[in-house]
Amino acid sequence: MRSSKYLLSTLKETPSDAEIVSHQLMLRAGMIRKVAAGLYTWTPTGLRVLRKVENVVREEMEAINALEILMPMVQPADLWQESGRWDDYGPELLRIKDRNQRDFLLGPTHEEIISELMRKEVSSYKQLPLTLFQIQTKFRDEIRPRFGVMRAREFMMKDAYSFHLTDESLQKTYDDMYQAYCRIFERLGLDYRPVIADTGSIGGSHSHEFHVLASSGEDAIAFSDSSDYAANVEMAEALPPVGERPAPNQKVEKHKVQGDELASVLQPLSVESQQATKSVIVKAADDIDSEYVQLVLRADHELNTVKAEKLAQVAAPLEILTETEKATGVEAPYIGVVNAKLPLLVDSSAAHLADFACGANENGQWLTGVNWKRDTGDFSIVDIRNVVAGDPSPCGQGKVKIARGIEVGHIFQLGKKYSDAMKVGVLSESGKHETLTMGCYGIGVSRIVAAAIEQNNDERGICWPEALAPFQVVIVPMNMHKSARVQEAAEKLYTDLKAQGIDVLFDDRKERPGVMFTDMELIGIPHQVVVGERNLDENQVEYQSRKGGEKQKINLDDCISFIQ
Ligand code: ATP
Ligand code: MG
Ligand code: MG
Ligand code: MG
Repeated sequence: MRSSKYLLSTLKETPSDAEIVSHQLMLRAGMIRKVAAGLYTWTPTGLRVLRKVENVVREEMEAINALEILMPMVQPADLWQESGRWDDYGPELLRIKDRNQRDFLLGPTHEEIISELMRKEVSSYKQLPLTLFQIQTKFRDEIRPRFGVMRAREFMMKDAYSFHLTDESLQKTYDDMYQAYCRIFERLGLDYRPVIADTGSIGGSHSHEFHVLASSGEDAIAFSDSSDYAANVEMAEALPPVGERPAPNQKVEKHKVQGDELASVLQPLSVESQQATKSVIVKAADDIDSEYVQLVLRADHELNTVKAEKLAQVAAPLEILTETEKATGVEAPYIGVVNAKLPLLVDSSAAHLADFACGANENGQWLTGVNWKRDTGDFSIVDIRNVVAGDPSPCGQGKVKIARGIEVGHIFQLGKKYSDAMKVGVLSESGKHETLTMGCYGIGVSRIVAAAIEQNNDERGICWPEALAPFQVVIVPMNMHKSARVQEAAEKLYTDLKAQGIDVLFDDRKERPGVMFTDMELIGIPHQVVVGERNLDENQVEYQSRKGGEKQKINLDDCISFIQ
């Protein structure tokens, strides 16, 4: 690709509405452009990266014998009525009508459509087990689309579904998927962790999430420092308590809180907050369900409109927020609790990004935490004593540590939730009709692009892992438009690299070298080859890796082997 024929639309300034580094850099590197809240256009550079993720995912799905299909994004309501989710799903589901006033929806996930396919296509046990997948646009009307493609409303997902006669067969495919996910994240060069997860609104029994570790992550995960044990802190009951230990297997109390119970629930926090220097904002979640109230602890907020003492007076939460919104221009539906004496479990710089947070008193005893589930709108108070960092780990090895993670994948054993409701079955070997058992497996393809940038950036821009880079190599010629020799050498190198199947960008713009270097570093191309008059005297070019290290002179003829 030649820069002169390409759409390079880099920005010098950091866009003010982008809060996290990946969103800032995706805008600055010209990878995405916003169309409306949570809706983005992927530019040629962004799309190149997205396709790289897709291809790795596709290869690893095919390697475990999953078959690719493509289902419609628009889905008829009657299938969702059959599964019960037309009523259950909540406001993330975008419902639409066709010209005949029939109900449809934009697919946030595809269990119903795949169940419809399977009950028609598969009739015998001989056809099982079967795993199908697609890589496709999903729509979820997220309450707070934010951070660019990290939490978009329209986004790209790989979703796979498997069908089985027995639980053992489901477990086998689940294990294969788990391994395939590990290979995907390893190939993409990401620092990730599989964690025990809650099954959320999708239901089912057994589930893992895959998290890319990053301080901007919206989830908190607890893991052992010396074994593979890791769990989403949403799964607080999976963690061992400290202090007064409940009997083994005793579940930690976790309950929904209704608006009028709020004051009592907040009590443990308000006690500490009496000494707080900062403030609290409260709002009923009118956009979810007015019965429930959401809470988020914010660490770094400058909101002083509502003093901590008001914690107990949350009878009119809406007014309080309105006041705060006016003062700050922040329109998010939070309750925030900020207290310098309450060190947050999560590091305070990231806490404002989270829907989960908690506090400890000065002795380091954890008090309580608040966990709001976006998908269901449920809000629960978690006894944080159970997720204190430094617990022995439940696996018996090492200590528990807490980190923030970005959920990039999620696998579930659904069991018969959908196949019972939608009558998906086959004739078994003995001629009996058997309902199938089912698994589903998602990967946030577009979210991975942002998550990878969270882990791979520096003050100059993105530093792509090899597998994700939009181009492997960039050729930067010095004053090419004045030097025929530079032009000739750069053109030849470009042709040779292309012939080797290397993704190469030839920066043939009439720009000053400084402009070219700045742009290419921002975009994050892993290898840079500078072609200049002086080095050509010795048949050499200058090589620089985006990840740093010294510039090196290399022989022009060794360039290809050097890069590969
Ligand atoms: P989250 O907890 O972040 O809302 P989820 O649990 O609702 O995600 P799943 O239903 O498990 O999401 O979907 C599978 C994957 O799709 C997720 O692991 C995530 O990587 C991705 N994903 C979900 N919602 C979004 C979104 N709004 N924008 C981008 N990717 C998303
Ligand atoms: Mg969600
Ligand atoms: Mg989730
Ligand atoms: Mg999930």
